[in-house]
Amino acid sequence: MAEEKREFQAEVAKLLDIVVHSLYSNKEIFLRELISNASDACDKLRYAALTDPSLVADGAEYRIRLIPDAEAGQLTIADNGVGMNRDDLVANLGTIAKSGTADFMNRLTGDAKKDMTLIGQFGVGFYSAFMVADKVTVVTRKAGEEHGWRWESDGKGEFTIAPEPDAPRGASITLSLRDSEKEFLDRFRLSAIVKRYSDHIAIPVILVEGDKEETLNSASALWTRSKSEVTPEQYREFYHHVAHAFDDPWLTIHSKAEGAIEYTSLLFVPGSKPFDIFHPDRKQHVKLYVKRVFITDEAEGLLPPYLRFVRGVVDSQDLPLNVSREMLQHNPVLAKMKSGLVKKVLSELKKKAEDDAESYATFWETFGAVLKEGIYEDFERKADILALCRFRTTATDGLATLDEVVGRMKDGQDALYYATGDDVAALKKSPQLEGFLAKGVEVLLLTDPIDEFWVPAVGEYQGKKLVAITQGDVDLSKVQADPETEAAKPEAAPAEALDTLVAALKLNLDGKVKDVRATDRLTNSAVCLVADSGQMSLHLEKLLKAHNQ
Ligand code: ADP
Ligand code: MG
Repeated sequence: MAEEKREFQAEVAKLLDIVVHSLYSNKEIFLRELISNASDACDKLRYAALTDPSLVADGAEYRIRLIPDAEAGQLTIADNGVGMNRDDLVANLGTIAKSGTADFMNRLTGDAKKDMTLIGQFGVGFYSAFMVADKVTVVTRKAGEEHGWRWESDGKGEFTIAPEPDAPRGASITLSLRDSEKEFLDRFRLSAIVKRYSDHIAIPVILVEGDKEETLNSASALWTRSKSEVTPEQYREFYHHVAHAFDDPWLTIHSKAEGAIEYTSLLFVPGSKPFDIFHPDRKQHVKLYVKRVFITDEAEGLLPPYLRFVRGVVDSQDLPLNVSREMLQHNPVLAKMKSGLVKKVLSELKKKAEDDAESYATFWETFGAVLKEGIYEDFERKADILALCRFRTTATDGLATLDEVVGRMKDGQDALYYATGDDVAALKKSPQLEGFLAKGVEVLLLTDPIDEFWVPAVGEYQGKKLVAITQGDVDLSKVQADPETEAAKPEAAPAEALDTLVAALKLNLDGKVKDVRATDRLTNSAVCLVADSGQMSLHLEKLLKAHNQ
């Protein structure tokens, strides 16, 4: 087969253009990305070889080699991991398979500075090589296959693929460095970069110069070290690697469970919202290891969907090493780990909420809408999750807990009231609120689509019914009004006049509304729409219409 020329997917071409032409201040991260990929490739092969040892007939000792060649101006990053065949090369190094790509592309503005921040969050992975190289060559052979391939590109829209019969197992990425980037051939520079970003990589990263070899990293799995031996920077870099993320973790939870079952977990709550957090598959993203061997990043039973923002690793001592992904479904050990992990994460969130309310508020803005799914999905922990919830209300500019809102209930108030809508500012102007404001009754302002589901499912809190302010039979007559607001209230119209008006409106709006009623809920507005009690809320109706339901 001869050499074949192909075009990058449009999204890749666009991304490469931005990567190459923006002055990215932190070019050295290309090495972190390539080492991270090499480590992933070794993990994948180690797992595959558990069931098919012939895959590693040519050696089961994994390593990542950095080979600078000053004369040629090239740096090679070579691993003996799982490698890629022709189809893998086209799919992995010609397209972006990541979910959230479309969303990411739509948010690019053309303003280099803003776009770089966005790219920083999205991550460019392999393509970051083109920040320092004007040509990238990948020579690779997939484990278990006979022939290898050569992929090559100058990052300008096209790449070539050709057979490379003698390629060794794994992948070697050779960067032809731009003249301005020759510093990345320097051993001290390389050593410092590996120490900074890749020390946690569990496979040896070896600098090869002539016949000299030097291991640059600690090469022990970070989560197996004791907390006191790990610096915040190391945790952060590990988070970048394991989560394929580029922000700082908001919360780091490193713990060891000992007892009936034994496992170590190193979990992170990201500082910013991942692009795919509302992807319909609602997959969890924690990687499962068994005795330090990577098993899968798709262990569905490891964490519930409402904790899908959590990243990290869990390493089990009890599962068998040859556990298949299928065997993990309905596995009792996994179920126990899940229960322990959920408890741990929720209790750490609680601690944060108590110790640092301000910081917790930023977490809540980012992931509250996801966590709230747990209120009705995890019956056992409903109370714990409700206690972690924060709300916008009419009584404060900040966030309130449900307990605080209950504590501020008025004499004679027998329910907790809430309003649902698209945003807080619009809700605050809603005419339906007027009567509540006049009587000083606090109203929860709910703006996440999920609120339409958990509120009816929960029904009440501390014995107080949750009632929508748009429901027709809301009765505030028993609530004592503040004396000043009461004094400012205009005199009520005579009853007969109201009856005549209501009758005239009914006649006029016949067929358009179900009923017309006089109310003491309004102070400034003349009329407002309400829903029948027991019917779906007006906002939910609007949401469903928007989704053509
Ligand atoms: P990510 O690592 O987030 O998946 P990258 O852009 O870094 O994204 O890499 C894209 C894909 O290319 C990887 O998911 C992997 O399938 C493949 N790949 C990259 N480097 C290697 C390698 N050294 N060995 C085998 N496959 C690789
Ligand atoms: Mg990667």
